[in-house]
Amino acid sequence: MKLIGPFSQILTLAHIDFKGSVKDNALEIVENGGVLVSKGHILKVGNFDTLRRENPLLEIEEITQKRVLIPGFVDCHTHTCFAGTRAMDFAERNAGTPYLEIAQKGGGIWSTVTATRNASQEELKTLNETRVNSFLKNGITTVEIKSGYGLSVEEEIKILNTINQLDTEADVVPTCLAAHIKPRDFDGSGVEYLEHLIENLLPKIKHLTNRIDIFTEKSAFGIEESTHYLQKVKEMGFQITVHADQFTAGSAQMAVKMGALSADHLEASTETDINVLANSETVAVALPGASIGLGEPFAPARKLLDAGACLAIASDYNPGSAPMGDLLTQASILATFQKLTNAEVFSGLTFRAAKALNLFDIGKISTGYKADFQAYPTDDYREILYHQGQLKPDIVWKMGYLI
Ligand SMILES: [Zn+2]
Repeated sequence: MKLIGPFSQILTLAHIDFKGSVKDNALEIVENGGVLVSKGHILKVGNFDTLRRENPLLEIEEITQKRVLIPGFVDCHTHTCFAGTRAMDFAERNAGTPYLEIAQKGGGIWSTVTATRNASQEELKTLNETRVNSFLKNGITTVEIKSGYGLSVEEEIKILNTINQLDTEADVVPTCLAAHIKPRDFDGSGVEYLEHLIENLLPKIKHLTNRIDIFTEKSAFGIEESTHYLQKVKEMGFQITVHADQFTAGSAQMAVKMGALSADHLEASTETDINVLANSETVAVALPGASIGLGEPFAPARKLLDAGACLAIASDYNPGSAPMGDLLTQASILATFQKLTNAEVFSGLTFRAAKALNLFDIGKISTGYKADFQAYPTDDYREILYHQGQLKPDIVWKMGYLI
Protein backbone atom coordinates (compact mmCIF):
# COMPACT_ATOMS: atom_id res chain seq x y z
CA MET A 1 0.00 0.00 0.00
CA LYS A 2 1.25 3.50 -0.77
CA LEU A 3 0.05 7.07 -0.84
CA ILE A 4 0.72 9.17 -3.94
CA GLY A 5 0.55 12.96 -3.77
CA PRO A 6 0.01 15.75 -3.00
CA PHE A 7 -1.56 16.88 -6.27
CA SER A 8 -2.75 20.45 -6.85
CA GLN A 9 -5.95 18.94 -8.26
CA ILE A 10 -7.27 15.44 -8.78
CA LEU A 11 -9.95 15.25 -11.44
CA THR A 12 -11.70 12.06 -10.34
CA LEU A 13 -14.54 11.94 -12.92
CA ALA A 14 -16.53 10.21 -10.18
CA HIS A 15 -20.33 10.69 -10.19
CA ILE A 16 -20.53 11.42 -13.94
CA ASP A 17 -23.00 9.25 -15.88
CA PHE A 18 -22.15 7.16 -18.91
CA LYS A 19 -24.63 9.03 -21.06
CA GLY A 20 -25.50 12.58 -21.98
CA SER A 21 -24.10 16.09 -21.76
CA VAL A 22 -22.05 17.17 -18.72
CA LYS A 23 -21.31 20.67 -17.42
CA ASP A 24 -17.88 21.39 -15.99
CA ASN A 25 -19.39 22.13 -12.58
CA ALA A 26 -20.21 18.41 -12.37
CA LEU A 27 -16.49 17.64 -12.18
CA GLU A 28 -15.30 16.50 -8.76
CA ILE A 29 -11.97 18.22 -8.06
CA VAL A 30 -9.96 17.17 -5.01
CA GLU A 31 -7.50 19.94 -4.15
CA ASN A 32 -4.24 19.06 -2.40
CA GLY A 33 -5.27 15.49 -3.16
CA GLY A 34 -3.76 12.09 -2.55
CA VAL A 35 -4.47 8.60 -3.85
CA LEU A 36 -4.12 5.52 -1.69
CA VAL A 37 -3.11 2.56 -3.85
CA SER A 38 -2.94 -1.13 -3.03
CA LYS A 39 -2.29 -4.08 -5.35
CA GLY A 40 -2.68 -1.97 -8.46
CA HIS A 41 -6.05 -0.56 -7.48
CA ILE A 42 -7.33 2.62 -5.86
CA LEU A 43 -8.28 2.23 -2.21
CA LYS A 44 -9.18 5.81 -1.44
CA VAL A 45 -8.98 9.33 -2.85
CA GLY A 46 -9.01 12.41 -0.64
CA ASN A 47 -7.11 15.21 1.00
CA PHE A 48 -3.42 14.27 1.04
CA ASP A 49 -2.71 15.45 4.59
CA THR A 50 -5.76 13.67 5.99
CA LEU A 51 -4.84 10.42 4.23
CA ARG A 52 -1.27 10.70 5.57
CA ARG A 53 -2.47 11.35 9.11
CA GLU A 54 -4.81 8.35 8.96
CA ASN A 55 -2.00 6.10 7.70
CA PRO A 56 1.20 7.30 9.44
CA LEU A 57 3.38 4.30 8.52
CA LEU A 58 2.58 4.44 4.86
CA GLU A 59 5.09 4.48 2.01
CA ILE A 60 4.72 7.87 0.33
CA GLU A 61 5.40 8.62 -3.32
CA GLU A 62 5.79 12.34 -2.99
CA ILE A 63 4.87 14.82 -5.72
CA THR A 64 6.97 17.88 -5.04
CA GLN A 65 5.73 20.26 -7.76
CA LYS A 66 2.32 21.40 -8.94
CA ARG A 67 0.55 18.64 -10.82
CA VAL A 68 -3.00 17.87 -11.96
CA LEU A 69 -3.91 14.18 -11.83
CA ILE A 70 -6.48 12.69 -14.21
CA PRO A 71 -7.37 9.09 -15.14
CA GLY A 72 -5.31 7.35 -17.83
CA PHE A 73 -6.84 7.71 -21.29
CA VAL A 74 -8.49 4.79 -23.08
CA ASP A 75 -8.00 4.85 -26.87
CA CYS A 76 -10.86 2.55 -27.87
CA HIS A 77 -10.27 2.57 -31.66
CA THR A 78 -6.86 2.24 -33.35
CA HIS A 79 -5.24 0.41 -36.24
CA THR A 80 -1.64 0.60 -34.99
CA CYS A 81 -0.61 -2.82 -36.34
CA PHE A 82 0.61 -1.89 -39.82
CA ALA A 83 3.80 -1.53 -41.83
CA GLY A 84 4.70 1.03 -44.47
CA THR A 85 3.56 4.60 -44.96
CA ARG A 86 0.83 6.41 -46.88
CA ALA A 87 2.64 9.76 -47.17
CA MET A 88 2.16 9.57 -50.94
CA ASP A 89 -1.63 9.23 -50.47
CA PHE A 90 -1.71 12.22 -48.13
CA ALA A 91 0.24 14.43 -50.54
CA GLU A 92 -1.80 13.30 -53.57
CA ARG A 93 -5.12 13.68 -51.74
CA ASN A 94 -4.22 17.22 -50.70
CA ALA A 95 -3.17 17.94 -54.29
CA GLY A 96 -6.66 16.96 -55.40
CA THR A 97 -5.94 13.54 -56.90
CA PRO A 98 -9.05 11.27 -56.80
CA TYR A 99 -8.90 8.14 -54.61
CA LEU A 100 -9.06 5.70 -57.52
CA GLU A 101 -6.13 7.41 -59.20
CA ILE A 102 -4.14 7.29 -55.94
CA ALA A 103 -4.87 3.56 -55.75
CA GLN A 104 -3.72 3.12 -59.36
CA LYS A 105 -0.46 4.89 -58.45
CA GLY A 106 0.13 2.19 -55.82
CA GLY A 107 -1.48 3.91 -52.82
CA GLY A 108 -4.72 3.20 -50.97
CA ILE A 109 -5.43 0.53 -48.36
CA TRP A 110 -4.01 -2.23 -50.55
CA SER A 111 -0.52 -0.72 -50.25
CA THR A 112 -0.76 -1.03 -46.46
CA VAL A 113 -2.02 -4.60 -46.78
CA THR A 114 0.95 -5.44 -49.02
CA ALA A 115 3.48 -3.79 -46.69
CA THR A 116 1.95 -5.46 -43.63
CA ARG A 117 1.91 -8.88 -45.29
CA ASN A 118 5.55 -8.42 -46.28
CA ALA A 119 6.58 -7.55 -42.72
CA SER A 120 7.65 -10.38 -40.43
CA GLN A 121 5.86 -10.83 -37.13
CA GLU A 122 9.02 -9.58 -35.40
CA GLU A 123 9.14 -6.39 -37.52
CA LEU A 124 5.44 -5.73 -36.96
CA LYS A 125 5.87 -6.28 -33.24
CA THR A 126 8.68 -3.71 -33.03
CA LEU A 127 6.74 -1.11 -35.05
CA ASN A 128 3.66 -1.63 -32.92
CA GLU A 129 5.52 -1.52 -29.60
CA THR A 130 7.08 1.80 -30.52
CA ARG A 131 3.63 3.23 -31.26
CA VAL A 132 1.89 1.82 -28.20
CA ASN A 133 4.69 2.85 -25.86
CA SER A 134 4.57 6.40 -27.20
CA PHE A 135 0.80 6.35 -26.56
CA LEU A 136 1.52 5.20 -23.01
CA LYS A 137 4.01 8.03 -22.49
CA ASN A 138 1.19 10.39 -23.51
CA GLY A 139 -1.12 9.02 -20.84
CA ILE A 140 -2.99 6.33 -22.79
CA THR A 141 -2.96 3.39 -20.41
CA THR A 142 -5.41 1.19 -22.35
CA VAL A 143 -5.40 0.84 -26.13
CA GLU A 144 -7.59 -1.13 -28.50
CA ILE A 145 -5.82 -2.41 -31.62
CA LYS A 146 -7.55 -3.80 -34.69
CA SER A 147 -6.22 -6.26 -37.20
CA GLY A 148 -7.46 -5.71 -40.76
CA TYR A 149 -4.36 -5.22 -42.89
CA GLY A 150 -3.83 -8.95 -43.34
CA LEU A 151 -7.11 -9.90 -45.02
CA SER A 152 -6.33 -13.61 -45.27
CA VAL A 153 -6.65 -16.31 -42.62
CA GLU A 154 -2.91 -16.66 -42.20
CA GLU A 155 -2.11 -12.93 -42.22
CA GLU A 156 -4.96 -11.94 -39.90
CA ILE A 157 -3.76 -14.57 -37.42
CA LYS A 158 -0.20 -13.21 -37.73
CA ILE A 159 -1.44 -9.72 -36.87
CA LEU A 160 -3.65 -10.86 -33.97
CA ASN A 161 -0.74 -12.89 -32.60
CA THR A 162 1.47 -9.80 -32.84
CA ILE A 163 -1.08 -7.64 -31.00
CA ASN A 164 -1.35 -10.26 -28.26
CA GLN A 165 2.41 -10.53 -27.82
CA LEU A 166 3.30 -6.83 -27.53
CA ASP A 167 5.88 -6.05 -24.90
CA THR A 168 4.23 -3.04 -23.27
CA GLU A 169 2.92 -2.01 -19.88
CA ALA A 170 -0.23 -0.58 -21.48
CA ASP A 171 -3.34 -2.77 -21.48
CA VAL A 172 -3.99 -3.90 -25.04
CA VAL A 173 -7.44 -4.95 -26.31
CA PRO A 174 -7.24 -6.81 -29.65
CA THR A 175 -10.08 -6.70 -32.19
CA CYS A 176 -10.42 -8.64 -35.44
CA LEU A 177 -11.24 -6.40 -38.42
CA ALA A 178 -10.73 -9.00 -41.15
CA ALA A 179 -13.95 -7.51 -42.60
CA HIS A 180 -12.13 -4.27 -43.44
CA ILE A 181 -12.54 -4.56 -47.23
CA LYS A 182 -12.85 -7.50 -49.58
CA PRO A 183 -9.23 -8.24 -50.47
CA ARG A 184 -8.20 -7.88 -54.10
CA ASP A 185 -6.84 -11.40 -54.21
CA PHE A 186 -10.00 -13.07 -52.90
CA ASP A 187 -11.77 -14.92 -55.67
CA GLY A 188 -15.44 -14.25 -54.93
CA SER A 189 -18.01 -11.69 -53.80
CA GLY A 190 -18.10 -9.67 -50.57
CA VAL A 191 -20.71 -12.04 -49.16
CA GLU A 192 -18.50 -15.01 -50.02
CA TYR A 193 -15.51 -13.37 -48.34
CA LEU A 194 -17.52 -12.85 -45.13
CA GLU A 195 -18.69 -16.51 -45.30
CA HIS A 196 -15.04 -17.50 -45.71
CA LEU A 197 -14.14 -15.55 -42.55
CA ILE A 198 -16.96 -17.18 -40.58
CA GLU A 199 -15.94 -20.65 -41.65
CA ASN A 200 -12.17 -20.45 -41.78
CA LEU A 201 -10.91 -17.56 -39.64
CA LEU A 202 -13.22 -16.90 -36.70
CA PRO A 203 -13.12 -20.43 -35.24
CA LYS A 204 -9.30 -20.14 -35.12
CA ILE A 205 -9.01 -16.82 -33.27
CA LYS A 206 -11.16 -17.28 -30.18
CA HIS A 207 -8.02 -17.38 -28.01
CA LEU A 208 -6.72 -14.20 -29.64
CA THR A 209 -9.72 -11.86 -29.37
CA ASN A 210 -13.33 -11.72 -28.23
CA ARG A 211 -14.13 -8.70 -30.40
CA ILE A 212 -15.11 -8.50 -34.08
CA ASP A 213 -15.39 -5.31 -36.14
CA ILE A 214 -16.70 -4.64 -39.66
CA PHE A 215 -16.35 -1.65 -41.98
CA THR A 216 -19.92 -1.05 -43.15
CA GLU A 217 -19.82 1.35 -46.06
CA LYS A 218 -20.71 1.33 -49.75
CA SER A 219 -17.03 0.88 -50.64
CA ALA A 220 -16.63 -2.04 -48.19
CA PHE A 221 -19.59 -4.12 -46.92
CA GLY A 222 -23.27 -3.20 -47.27
CA ILE A 223 -25.76 -3.11 -44.42
CA GLU A 224 -27.45 -6.37 -45.33
CA GLU A 225 -24.25 -8.40 -45.62
CA SER A 226 -22.87 -6.77 -42.47
CA THR A 227 -26.02 -7.71 -40.54
CA HIS A 228 -25.73 -11.32 -41.65
CA TYR A 229 -22.03 -11.44 -40.71
CA LEU A 230 -22.55 -9.86 -37.29
CA GLN A 231 -25.44 -12.22 -36.55
CA LYS A 232 -23.17 -15.22 -37.16
CA VAL A 233 -20.34 -13.58 -35.24
CA LYS A 234 -22.60 -13.05 -32.22
CA GLU A 235 -23.80 -16.65 -32.35
CA MET A 236 -20.14 -17.66 -32.12
CA GLY A 237 -19.89 -15.71 -28.86
CA PHE A 238 -17.95 -12.64 -29.98
CA GLN A 239 -18.66 -9.05 -28.94
CA ILE A 240 -19.17 -6.68 -31.84
CA THR A 241 -18.30 -3.15 -32.89
CA VAL A 242 -18.92 -1.39 -36.21
CA HIS A 243 -17.21 1.22 -38.41
CA ALA A 244 -20.47 3.09 -39.07
CA ASP A 245 -21.77 6.15 -40.92
CA GLN A 246 -18.35 7.40 -42.03
CA PHE A 247 -19.43 8.55 -45.50
CA THR A 248 -23.04 7.33 -45.73
CA ALA A 249 -25.69 6.95 -43.01
CA GLY A 250 -27.61 3.84 -41.99
CA SER A 251 -25.03 1.55 -40.42
CA ALA A 252 -25.09 3.12 -36.94
CA GLN A 253 -28.76 2.08 -36.69
CA MET A 254 -27.74 -1.40 -37.82
CA ALA A 255 -25.03 -1.44 -35.11
CA VAL A 256 -27.60 -0.56 -32.45
CA LYS A 257 -30.01 -3.21 -33.73
CA MET A 258 -27.25 -5.82 -33.56
CA GLY A 259 -26.33 -4.81 -30.01
CA ALA A 260 -22.85 -3.57 -30.89
CA LEU A 261 -20.73 -2.26 -28.01
CA SER A 262 -19.90 0.77 -30.12
CA ALA A 263 -20.62 2.47 -33.43
CA ASP A 264 -17.53 4.36 -34.54
CA HIS A 265 -17.04 7.31 -36.97
CA LEU A 266 -20.61 8.76 -37.37
CA GLU A 267 -19.49 11.72 -39.49
CA ALA A 268 -22.51 11.14 -41.78
CA SER A 269 -25.07 10.36 -39.05
CA THR A 270 -28.47 12.06 -39.39
CA GLU A 271 -30.83 13.28 -36.62
CA THR A 272 -32.59 9.90 -36.69
CA ASP A 273 -29.30 8.02 -36.31
CA ILE A 274 -28.32 10.30 -33.44
CA ASN A 275 -31.59 9.59 -31.63
CA VAL A 276 -31.33 5.85 -32.18
CA LEU A 277 -27.82 5.89 -30.70
CA ALA A 278 -28.94 8.08 -27.80
CA ASN A 279 -31.70 5.62 -26.92
CA SER A 280 -29.34 2.64 -26.88
CA GLU A 281 -26.48 1.18 -24.87
CA THR A 282 -24.18 1.38 -27.91
CA VAL A 283 -21.32 3.84 -27.35
CA ALA A 284 -21.00 6.53 -30.05
CA VAL A 285 -17.30 6.90 -30.86
CA ALA A 286 -16.08 10.10 -32.54
CA LEU A 287 -12.78 9.84 -34.43
CA PRO A 288 -11.55 13.40 -34.95
CA GLY A 289 -8.18 12.15 -36.23
CA ALA A 290 -9.89 10.79 -39.35
CA SER A 291 -11.70 14.09 -39.95
CA ILE A 292 -8.42 15.99 -39.59
CA GLY A 293 -6.53 13.48 -41.77
CA LEU A 294 -9.12 13.56 -44.56
CA GLY A 295 -10.29 17.16 -44.26
CA GLU A 296 -13.87 15.96 -43.64
CA PRO A 297 -16.50 17.20 -41.15
CA PHE A 298 -16.37 16.01 -37.55
CA ALA A 299 -18.89 13.58 -36.08
CA PRO A 300 -21.85 15.48 -34.52
CA ALA A 301 -20.52 15.07 -31.00
CA ARG A 302 -22.50 17.98 -29.53
CA LYS A 303 -25.79 16.71 -30.91
CA LEU A 304 -25.05 13.16 -29.76
CA LEU A 305 -24.41 14.34 -26.21
CA ASP A 306 -27.46 16.62 -26.15
CA ALA A 307 -29.63 13.75 -27.38
CA GLY A 308 -28.29 11.64 -24.48
CA ALA A 309 -25.74 9.36 -26.13
CA CYS A 310 -22.61 7.94 -24.50
CA LEU A 311 -19.87 9.70 -26.47
CA ALA A 312 -16.30 8.39 -26.57
CA ILE A 313 -13.38 9.96 -28.45
CA ALA A 314 -10.67 7.81 -30.03
CA SER A 315 -7.71 8.37 -32.36
CA ASP A 316 -8.44 5.90 -35.20
CA TYR A 317 -4.65 5.93 -35.61
CA ASN A 318 -3.98 4.39 -39.04
CA PRO A 319 -1.66 5.13 -41.93
CA GLY A 320 -4.35 6.01 -44.47
CA SER A 321 -6.82 8.47 -42.97
CA ALA A 322 -5.57 9.29 -39.46
CA PRO A 323 -1.77 9.32 -39.40
CA MET A 324 -1.36 11.78 -36.52
CA GLY A 325 -1.95 9.42 -33.61
CA ASP A 326 -2.18 12.17 -30.98
CA LEU A 327 -5.42 11.59 -29.11
CA LEU A 328 -5.22 14.61 -26.79
CA THR A 329 -4.59 17.04 -29.66
CA GLN A 330 -7.45 15.57 -31.66
CA ALA A 331 -9.87 15.64 -28.73
CA SER A 332 -8.94 19.26 -27.94
CA ILE A 333 -9.61 20.27 -31.54
CA LEU A 334 -12.90 18.35 -31.61
CA ALA A 335 -13.88 20.27 -28.46
CA THR A 336 -13.40 23.65 -30.16
CA PHE A 337 -15.35 22.73 -33.30
CA GLN A 338 -18.15 20.83 -31.55
CA LYS A 339 -18.28 22.96 -28.37
CA LEU A 340 -17.62 20.23 -25.84
CA THR A 341 -16.99 20.91 -22.17
CA ASN A 342 -13.88 19.70 -20.37
CA ALA A 343 -16.10 17.22 -18.52
CA GLU A 344 -17.43 15.79 -21.79
CA VAL A 345 -14.00 15.48 -23.38
CA PHE A 346 -12.35 13.86 -20.34
CA SER A 347 -15.31 11.49 -19.89
CA GLY A 348 -15.10 10.58 -23.59
CA LEU A 349 -11.39 9.82 -23.29
CA THR A 350 -11.72 7.69 -20.17
CA PHE A 351 -14.62 5.74 -18.63
CA ARG A 352 -17.00 6.29 -21.54
CA ALA A 353 -14.35 4.96 -23.94
CA ALA A 354 -13.83 2.03 -21.56
CA LYS A 355 -17.53 1.16 -21.91
CA ALA A 356 -16.96 0.74 -25.65
CA LEU A 357 -14.47 -1.98 -24.70
CA ASN A 358 -16.84 -3.47 -22.11
CA LEU A 359 -14.39 -2.49 -19.34
CA PHE A 360 -15.79 -0.98 -16.16
CA ASP A 361 -12.81 -0.78 -13.80
CA ILE A 362 -10.83 1.91 -15.60
CA GLY A 363 -11.30 5.57 -16.45
CA LYS A 364 -12.08 7.11 -13.06
CA ILE A 365 -9.94 7.93 -10.03
CA SER A 366 -12.25 6.25 -7.59
CA THR A 367 -12.24 3.40 -5.07
CA GLY A 368 -11.96 -0.01 -6.74
CA TYR A 369 -10.74 1.28 -10.09
CA LYS A 370 -7.34 0.34 -11.51
CA ALA A 371 -4.60 2.77 -10.46
CA ASP A 372 -4.05 3.99 -14.03
CA PHE A 373 -3.50 7.73 -14.09
CA GLN A 374 -1.43 10.60 -15.48
CA ALA A 375 -0.18 13.91 -14.11
CA TYR A 376 0.23 17.21 -15.98
CA PRO A 377 2.64 19.99 -14.94
CA THR A 378 -0.02 22.59 -14.06
CA ASP A 379 -2.32 23.46 -11.15
CA ASP A 380 -5.48 24.01 -13.24
CA TYR A 381 -7.06 21.11 -15.17
CA ARG A 382 -8.40 23.53 -17.80
CA GLU A 383 -4.84 24.12 -19.01
CA ILE A 384 -4.79 20.58 -20.45
CA LEU A 385 -7.28 21.07 -23.31
CA TYR A 386 -6.41 24.76 -23.60
CA HIS A 387 -2.94 23.87 -24.86
CA GLN A 388 -4.52 21.66 -27.53
CA GLY A 389 -2.21 18.73 -27.02
CA GLN A 390 1.00 20.67 -26.40
CA LEU A 391 0.85 20.19 -22.63
CA LYS A 392 1.73 16.53 -22.15
CA PRO A 393 1.60 14.43 -19.00
CA ASP A 394 5.04 14.06 -17.45
CA ILE A 395 4.17 11.28 -15.02
CA VAL A 396 2.11 8.20 -15.92
CA TRP A 397 1.12 5.35 -13.60
CA LYS A 398 -0.10 1.91 -14.68
CA MET A 399 -1.59 -0.23 -11.91
CA GLY A 400 0.02 2.13 -9.42
CA TYR A 401 3.51 1.82 -10.87
CA LEU A 402 5.44 4.64 -12.52
CA ILE A 403 6.01 4.19 -16.23
ZN1 LIG B 1 -11.02 2.78 -37.92
